[in-house]
Amino acid sequence: MTIAVEEISGEQPSIEQQLQLHAVVLPYPAKGHSIPLMHFAKRLHSMGVVVTFVNTFSHLSKEHFRTLDGLDKSTMRVVPLGVSPPEGEGTTSLPYVEHVNELVEDALLLFEDLFSRKEDAPPACIVSDMFLGWTQVVANKFKIPRYVLFASPAGALATMLHMPELIKQGRLPIDPSKKEELIYDIPGVPPTRLADLPSPMQDANAYEYPFYARNCVEMHEATGVLINTFYELEPSYIDTLRQTVYGNVNGKEGHLLSILPVGPMLPKAYFTAGPEISANVEERDLCLQWLDTQPESSVLYVSFGSVAVLSIPQIQELAMGLEMSGQRFLLVLRAPLNPENLPLFPEGFEERTKGRGFVHVGWAPQLLVLSHRAVGGYLTHCGWNSTLEGICRGLPMLTWPIQAEQAMNARFLVDDVKAAIEVCTVTDGFISRERISTAIKRLLADPEGVIVKNNMQKLRDLALAAVGEGGSVQRNLENFLQELRSWKSS
Ligand code: UDP
Repeated sequence: MTIAVEEISGEQPSIEQQLQLHAVVLPYPAKGHSIPLMHFAKRLHSMGVVVTFVNTFSHLSKEHFRTLDGLDKSTMRVVPLGVSPPEGEGTTSLPYVEHVNELVEDALLLFEDLFSRKEDAPPACIVSDMFLGWTQVVANKFKIPRYVLFASPAGALATMLHMPELIKQGRLPIDPSKKEELIYDIPGVPPTRLADLPSPMQDANAYEYPFYARNCVEMHEATGVLINTFYELEPSYIDTLRQTVYGNVNGKEGHLLSILPVGPMLPKAYFTAGPEISANVEERDLCLQWLDTQPESSVLYVSFGSVAVLSIPQIQELAMGLEMSGQRFLLVLRAPLNPENLPLFPEGFEERTKGRGFVHVGWAPQLLVLSHRAVGGYLTHCGWNSTLEGICRGLPMLTWPIQAEQAMNARFLVDDVKAAIEVCTVTDGFISRERISTAIKRLLADPEGVIVKNNMQKLRDLALAAVGEGGSVQRNLENFLQELRSWKSS
């Protein structure tokens, strides 16, 4: 189906509407992308912007939109887009790659409708996810700027923007015999092992590879990038991004991208509440109940995020490592495929660690867990949302990257900001109990852990200052709105 979009006609909007900024926010249909974007949308709305939040494939349920309750529905509204593809396709690490590009036709219709509504200010921009590159077509059609919402750190942004060049030079996809080689020329990024580049960029056979390649090119065409990070966390990366000419791919003329670090995109209460933000939870989760019984700052929270699943032998070894460390822990895991119904944990593990360890297979209320006074460290897969959540609570980390850009995030935490200790790299394969136990003891029981903790707490202070009144996030948001106003009046 092709839709011819006519020039916008009809009555002119009032002066008031012309001055009003209206942002159309399009998240990728994966919760790790859409939930931070919803927090961002809420913040834009609090600054007087009319927001249309597009629920791509209706992947977010009513439950998720509870955070918008109480906001004026005429200025903060949610609209569905597209018919959800069949069940089961939304479960890969980057779901729906085969389908998201099909949304373009529906999106053109949606924008036609938004532009024709006399009662509203017309859209002043598209804010769309890093993996919805096709939205540039919509922005061009309606002559409005597109800002990319980048859900990973500035280092990953620099790397992804460099992907077309690496492909041109024949260095991507990676020759498996060269995985240990370092890459030196990504603007602003320190020398990086090829094996540590975002995993979908490495292998042409990966289902995401062509999708990444296309989106990286389309990102060059954007007006700017709103990054889920804060300036003080990655100043040199951000400075370099701001000075680098992008967009000169496929023979086009280059331009500077407006680089706007506006994260961490988390609920406001996470920045303002004290160590406990859980007082108003009606039903206290079992993990929290168990944490209530533990001494202050004593427990290591262990989690691999919402996507990664460890093998059963690795889960058993991890359990042995936790036991061997002698430290307190809360282990949260996604259930692995287990057709033979094998035991997940070594025999007697739960009894032997009773009182000092708690295991939960399923979803944990992570923000509440990280905010609990009993949690003193975090063994993480280094997903960027989890990393920011840990930083905002000043929790020293242990790094165990699995996929996506997690290896780069881990290197950043260990080498750049020295706020984490490495358990393993992404290429280490099976991780032994001795290695796990040693890393845990280094973090929780050795003087080295104190240094790491101090470094992490400095980052927390920087994060809280950045998101606070007059901080760098507010300034970047104001610059963003100023850019939209200039665009509108040009
Ligand atoms: N999360 C959670 N409970 C869990 C596992 C994950 O609340 O049991 C949340 C976590 O707080 C974070 C997100 O899921 O906001 C995971 O995103 P991240 O970017 O860290 O990693 P991914 O899941 O994409 O690998």
